[in-house]
Formats: sequence, structure tokens, C-alpha cells
Amino acid sequence: MTEYSVDGARLWSRLMDMAEIGASANGGSHRLALSQDDEDGRELFLAWCRNRGFAAVFDKVGNLFVRRAGRNPAAPPVVIGSHLDTQPNGGRFDGVLGVLAGLEVLETLEDFAIATEAPVEIAVWTNEEGARFQPAMMGSGVHCGVHSLAKTLAVTDASGISVAQELERFGYAGGIEPGSRAIGSYLELHIEQGPILEQEDKTIGVVTGGQAIRWYSLALSGEETHAGPMPMAMRRDPVRHLAAVTQLVYQIGLVDPDARATVGVIETRPGSINVMPGQVRLSVDLRHPDEAALQRMHDALSEGIARLDKTADGVGISLKQIWHSPVVAFDPQLTGAVQASAAARGYAARDMVSGAGHDAFHLAKVVPATMIFVPCRGGISHNEQEYTAPEHVQAGANVLLDVALQMAGTQTPAGAAA
Ligand SMILES: [Zn+2]
Repeated sequence: MTEYSVDGARLWSRLMDMAEIGASANGGSHRLALSQDDEDGRELFLAWCRNRGFAAVFDKVGNLFVRRAGRNPAAPPVVIGSHLDTQPNGGRFDGVLGVLAGLEVLETLEDFAIATEAPVEIAVWTNEEGARFQPAMMGSGVHCGVHSLAKTLAVTDASGISVAQELERFGYAGGIEPGSRAIGSYLELHIEQGPILEQEDKTIGVVTGGQAIRWYSLALSGEETHAGPMPMAMRRDPVRHLAAVTQLVYQIGLVDPDARATVGVIETRPGSINVMPGQVRLSVDLRHPDEAALQRMHDALSEGIARLDKTADGVGISLKQIWHSPVVAFDPQLTGAVQASAAARGYAARDMVSGAGHDAFHLAKVVPATMIFVPCRGGISHNEQEYTAPEHVQAGANVLLDVALQMAGTQTPAGAAA
């Protein structure tokens, strides 16, 4: 399956052209979902697609599908997907690589006049990043039945503008019912967004699945009072117990090298310099690639908080789980095909789990799916400095091409020697 290769220079120049849409001051891109910049980025992408004669359609949540027909129109397509929206002042590669590598695969099939049995399609999912509208992975979530269409359309941004209004404004509210389009298998090429491939000098990450994640809201409650008159011994001060709580969380994160524990939000109320706060609220994010290990972390956190609650004089400490995303397992046939392609092309590869969430996680609930990772410099992502070398971009797209060809089924091109 390695007799065809993508045009790495074409793919690289498209990545750089796309980065100019919503270009940010320090070399990144700023295309928030369903903003004018996102629209401009999608229009550039659509122009490239139409130029090669690929038909494009939208579903009702603005997910965009671009198809290259197969010999058997009834066969469910191989779909290559990702997203074109970015974080605020985000990078040039997160999401964009997966979409433009999909286009590169379709163009390579055209260039070599390769007839596939099943159609090959690109999916551009609406609002993967969740920076402007929550939740993240919105379009793929609606497609996969995780979120209802009606509730999603009603979601508003910080200034009160709804998803439905923006879809209407750009003409993205297509007639297709989300999820009604068949998908045979789903592939997503993405930058790793972590440092492991670079550190180990590997080119391809064979992504076997995603970490399990649990989110919590943690509250310490006392009684607010003036910072001056109240003697220390008489205070019910939640901040006094903050160190013990964060120490507990970090101990849990250090149980083994695969565990992750993060306190992302710490908020005092009312938050004034001369008021001893009555409330402290924290967020806790626990992750592990093994569901049973995450359960043990959960138990350690719950028991530890209950213990601290008993010993914190006059202060209540409570924990509430607000989200649980179980371990995601990708399709073994697809991960095997990724391994085989990397081996055949001589790319150093290793198995890994994804630490970040991706559209592919939703897709894996309903169709065979997998992801391919390529290194990014310093593991830096969601940052204007995000960078993946051209040879890694090309290698990832070649593996994507091989696996897409294998899943779609090929015929010898007309006129070529058998
Ligand atoms: Zn992404």
C-alpha cells in the first residue's frame, strides 16, 4: 500500500496559507468557532475542494462533509476528519493538520487516478475547541448522538449570540440531519500535543485510545469576615485548609507515571484583599489510561476529602464529581493498519494513548475509529508557538493515505501496469 505518496510540499503550503486566516501577532492563528475568521478559513478550504471537483455539504449543526466518490456509491465512506477552529491565539496545526491532510489524501487519489471501492470523505467538525461555545467537540458530539441538536443550537457565547444565529449568518445550517450520514470507518491525524514522540525520536504515534477523565467541583466553606477585627483563633477560614487539599490532589497525581491530577481553577469569594473569604472553590481534573486506576484515584480523593472535612475546624470541605468520560478504545484493525503503514514506510512508531480529548473520541462510540499522532516541538500546543516539522506532516499524511486506501479498497488505476 505504499506505492503512492502524498505531495508534502502542497500540504505544507496549504497549512501556511490557512494560518494566514486569523493570523495572530506571534505566528499563530485565531479562528474561534463560527466567527468571521472561522468562516473565512472554511471558505478557503471549500475553494480548494471545489477546485478539484469534490462535492461539499453541511449538516444542521454546520459539520462539513467533502466527498470523493467511490466505485460503489452504496458503500459507507472512509471518513478523515478534524477541525479548522482554533483556541484564542492558538497554533497552526491543532486540528488544521487533520483536515488539510484529508484534502491531501483526496487530491493524491485524484493525481494517481486511483479508484476506491468506498467513497473517501473529509469531515470538518464544528467547534472542536469549545473556546467560544461550550462544550468542546460540539459538532462531532451532535453527530454521534452525545448532545441533542436543539440544545446545541441554543447554546450562546459570552455576548449572547447563539450557535443557531451564527450558522444562519454563514449559511452553514444545512438540511442534513446530524448522524444520518453513514460512516464506514473514521481516521484522524493530529499533532501529539505532548512531548513523548519528540523525546523518543519517533515519527508516528499509533493511538490506541484515550484516557479516562473525571472532573470535580471542590468547595471549602467557612464564614467571611473583616481581615482586621476578627482574632485568628475565632475564624472559620477556608483558605487555611487550601494547602492540605491541593497537597492531597497532587499526591494522587503522583501514584504512578500514567496518572494526571490538575487543579485548574482556584477562586475565593468574595475575593477582596481585606476580606477573609467565606468560600473557596477549586476544580479538579483526574486522568488515567486505565479505568480501574482512575477509580482508585477517585476513591483516594473522596476518602481524603472526607478525612479533611472531619478535621478542618469550623470549615466544611465537599467534593462533587461533575463529569466522567470513560476510557476510549480505538479499533484494533485500524491501529494495526497504522502500525503496518509506519513499518512499511520505515517511520519509527510507538503505541500511545491520547491525553487530550478529540472528535475521534465521540466517533469511536459509533464507528470503528482511530487517530495518528505526529510530534510537535517541545510538546507545545494551544499556543502560537505550536510547530510540527514538514517531514513529520508528510509522514503523518502518508500513513493516513495508506490506511484510507486499505479501508476504502482499491483497484489498479486505468492504464497502469498490473
Ligand atoms: Zn484539535
